[in-house]
Amino acid sequence: MPVADTIVCVDCGGMCRRVPFDPPELGWQPGELVSYRCVDCLDMWYLEVDEEDLDGTADH
Ligand SMILES: [Zn+2]
Repeated sequence: MPVADTIVCVDCGGMCRRVPFDPPELGWQPGELVSYRCVDCLDMWYLEVDEEDLDGTADH
């Protein structure tokens, strides 16, 4: 899976959902920041899209 829909919260071990849930219309770009919000403690987490994450999904 190139960009995770959910990640595990570092603080509480809860589930963090990607916000917004829908991927961008033009697809993910390397260096783009993906936001996640923990459903338990409501912390926000930000992951940068890595070019490796996009392998197999992009034409190049
Ligand atoms: Zn949490």
